[in-house]
Amino acid sequence: MVTVGAVTIDGVQRKRANRLLLAARRSRARARLLSRLVLLGPPGAGKGTQAEVLERKFGICHLSTGEILRDVAAGNGLPQTSALKSALRYMRRGELVPDATILELVRERRDCLHAHQGFALDGFPRTLPQARALNRLLLQEGLTLDAALEFSLPMEQVIKRLSGRRICPNGHGVYHLKARPPKVDEQCDRCGAKLVRREDDRPEVVRARMNAYEKSTRPLIAFYKEQGLLITIKAQGKPNEVFTRTVNALKRNL
Ligand code: ADP
Ligand code: AMP
Repeated sequence: MVTVGAVTIDGVQRKRANRLLLAARRSRARARLLSRLVLLGPPGAGKGTQAEVLERKFGICHLSTGEILRDVAAGNGLPQTSALKSALRYMRRGELVPDATILELVRERRDCLHAHQGFALDGFPRTLPQARALNRLLLQEGLTLDAALEFSLPMEQVIKRLSGRRICPNGHGVYHLKARPPKVDEQCDRCGAKLVRREDDRPEVVRARMNAYEKSTRPLIAFYKEQGLLITIKAQGKPNEVFTRTVNALKRNL
């Protein structure tokens, strides 16, 4: 028996109180995690993979503009308006979709920006005008960005990741033939659908996407650095190793 203030508690009660204290501390630590995030890095660096885990573990809202467009292409998402049909043509060629179309898609999903646990914007913004428009949108919504996470990876590893990437055609996740294989050969773990290669992961399209990244998206690194928001994370290693590095960086930079 021990006495805490005016209350005497036995061992069982003490263990329970300790457990509650620990849970409260953990939840406070989680609440302090930087969690309004832009994810940067070349196609294939692992942004979507990390965003998926941030969503699963912390409830952070994952918004991928590429995923929205792939849903439209598959007929699972929005109706194909002429702007969206044109967007899909840009996408197939590995070029960037016009800013106005992308911004409209993001504005329609502004609820995600208000998610209690935060948001991870994956593949958006990709140009300076998009980044400035995001700043304006956040201001209008009374929100601030916590950090821009840049996942950095040598080009030869980027190419290996892209060439082995397979996705569930029903949007149930991203796999890799070697690094993140499904449990059953070439089948989605969640729905059993046969995994497919992304149309824009073909080598000739990958070249165009890398050019678009270098020309239009890489300048965002300096843009966010100037705002004091840039955190660079080494994206080498297994997905769970990168995730540990990410979470530590989000805590360290408080
Ligand atoms: P991005 O969203 O940046 O384009 P993805 O998350 O789709 O990249 O990852 C690209 C490919 O690399 C996918 O096949 C994914 O399974 C694989 N991948 C992601 N992270 C890692 C990692 N840390 N190690 C090995 N492969 C990875
Ligand atoms: P991702 O899934 O992020 O690799 O995006 C796939 C493709 O969708 C890109 O190559 C572009 O054609 C298009 N796309 C996605 N997000 C954007 C964006 N923010 N700006 C312009 N194009 C985009």
